[in-house]
Amino acid sequence: MGGTRGGFLVSVIARCQELAQLIAEADPPPLTIMEVCGTHSHEIARYGLAQLLPDQVRLISGPGCPVCVTADADLDAIVQIAQQGAIIATFGDMVRVPGPRGSLADARAAGADVRVLYSPMQSLEVARQNPDREVVLLGIGFETTAPSIAVTISDAAGEDLKSFSVHCAHKLIPPAMAALVVDPECRIDAFLCPGHVSTIIGTQAYDFLAEDYGIACAVAGFGPSDIMEAIYAIVGQIKGATSYVHNAYTRAVQVLGNTVAQAQMAAVFEVADAEWRGLGTIPASGLRIGDEYTVFDARNRYELEPPIERDPGPCICGDVLQGKALPTDCPAFGSACTPQSPIGPCMVSSEGSCAAVFKYQRQQG
Ligand code: SF4
Repeated sequence: MGGTRGGFLVSVIARCQELAQLIAEADPPPLTIMEVCGTHSHEIARYGLAQLLPDQVRLISGPGCPVCVTADADLDAIVQIAQQGAIIATFGDMVRVPGPRGSLADARAAGADVRVLYSPMQSLEVARQNPDREVVLLGIGFETTAPSIAVTISDAAGEDLKSFSVHCAHKLIPPAMAALVVDPECRIDAFLCPGHVSTIIGTQAYDFLAEDYGIACAVAGFGPSDIMEAIYAIVGQIKGATSYVHNAYTRAVQVLGNTVAQAQMAAVFEVADAEWRGLGTIPASGLRIGDEYTVFDARNRYELEPPIERDPGPCICGDVLQGKALPTDCPAFGSACTPQSPIGPCMVSSEGSCAAVFKYQRQQG
């Protein structure tokens, strides 16, 4: 079994090297490719893909980690709700992210009831078991997770689970990509489009980036050779002075995406402006709970203090998320800030680029 897997890995690495050779032979002009998927960031670091590429092809990480892009205002709100006595249901990485009033872990240490889930549906079970307590699910993530949260909310409505609500902080990836493209400090030539998100929204969701902004795009799967195939496709577009959305993940991604999941989202959520860490408020880049399900919106249930502004100290996660700085540019990287003792969300989250670089010691530059 191990031999079979080892042989497979050898063939994958050989294919990566072959693609790197083809990319070098194409002799592209200097170009910057941004990945907007935490799993891509980790795979690039894990397999040292950046080091396989010619010097003029630069890979940078963008806002692809849902934990990392969650704004301080949302962290502040959910900690306040925890402090008011509600049971907080959340995914693991969110617990340790420091917010203006501390993290959910801090709130739990002070007596709050914070529960880590593996599936949003588990939050309904918590609500059923605690009919006399408020249960608030922290809804974060991109188009990948939003459908399951939508189904959770519609199921809660079907059961009339009045004690259940959601603090919705969901975000949409294409508007954030557009915001980065128009930022003159970012200078992005191409996007490695995310795999999981694209299974939901389809390749069509990025057409405007290619057509309106001239940005080369390629949807990539998660294996190292998948990523290298997508980079090679991007180089082909750059060399040909053209831009379109290449699908290098055809085994999972279709042009129109998953229309069932899209319908689930549309039935529960409305598109709204959203605040992103580092990127600020981006118009129409998030989801809010629509009128039909407004009783399940935690934002309507709690009286909260205004968010506290805080000094991020040495943490430059905001710049890292925009590709304006590398994790290694941070003075705290690897010293004051490590996965065991993280200062910012990019080191807390298993999908964060600081955590990826720390773990795999990616040589960026
Ligand atoms: S290394 Fe730590 S402190 Fe620095 S940007 Fe990353 S998460 Fe923030």
